[in-house]
Amino acid sequence: MSASVIDGVAVSKVVREKLAGQVAALTAQGRPPGLAVVIVGDNPASKVYVRNKVKACGEIGMHSVLIEYPADASQAEVLARVAALNADPAIHGILVQLPLPAHFDAQHVLESIAPEKDVDGFHVANAGALATGLPGFWPCTPHGVMVMLDHYQLPIAGREAVVIGRSNIVGKPQALMLLARDATVTICTSKTRDLASHTRRADILVVATGRPKMVGGDMVKPGAVVIDVGINRLPDGKLCGDVDYDSAKQVAGWITPVPGGVGPMTITMLLANTVKAAGG
Ligand code: NDP
Repeated sequence: MSASVIDGVAVSKVVREKLAGQVAALTAQGRPPGLAVVIVGDNPASKVYVRNKVKACGEIGMHSVLIEYPADASQAEVLARVAALNADPAIHGILVQLPLPAHFDAQHVLESIAPEKDVDGFHVANAGALATGLPGFWPCTPHGVMVMLDHYQLPIAGREAVVIGRSNIVGKPQALMLLARDATVTICTSKTRDLASHTRRADILVVATGRPKMVGGDMVKPGAVVIDVGINRLPDGKLCGDVDYDSAKQVAGWITPVPGGVGPMTITMLLANTVKAAGG
């Protein structure tokens, strides 16, 4: 058996076409959605990410501004800029690209973003809203996973879902989103004993560890839905996920590739959150 591919590029295209329509409608009503992207320093990966975010905005007709600071910028000047963006009616979404330089208190900077403009969903108010089932902005990567599951009409309620990883940006919110949809959720971490005994009973397995190919086909339940969040660069320059795609594909029912799986959905959900923040 070979798993069906969950195609994040194709799902993104469908969602982005719908968003482009909403952007056009909001713009026609005199409320063009706007996203501000703040980056501090010159981390090469971060620079690629922010460029891709700004480009994606342009592709759906959405206004965006890129605000760049050198690595030695002070936290006070960045906080002052965020405060100005919070008050700017042309800006509906604000994101501060992580990681920030070591002399920043990243959590403090994230908390300075007005929750109603926090389109990354990292503010404690939005994290709390997700945990308690109140409306708010959900972190983009796990939200994108939920949109993919729904796009392919893969059932969630009552299923055994195992999430490997408990970061605030992926694992923990992913588990909460699956729980909200009535999955029976297990969260595994680096301290979990006998990881395979958990993964082998997962109907839905989400892997977000940053450990290249750590989940092989022998750890997958036959027919399972395998979602690989990992993005790792191998010494030969190629990208790979946290799942060993070739062996897992022989066992799973559905699987996301890397690249072309979860990755494209992350930016798509950022666009979706910004349109939502603008009232779309
Ligand atoms: P973090 O490093 O913040 O978290 C990794 C998590 O994995 C931790 O909870 C850690 O456990 C757990 N873990 C590590 N090793 C093991 C192991 N051997 N067994 C079980 N659990 C383990 O990473 P992120 O959540 O930020 O990112 C995870 C991956 O997803 C990375 O590859 C990242 O590049 C990718 N990513 C992809 C995105 C996309 O757009 N597709 C967006 C964001 C991230 P513990 O807490 O015990 O240390």
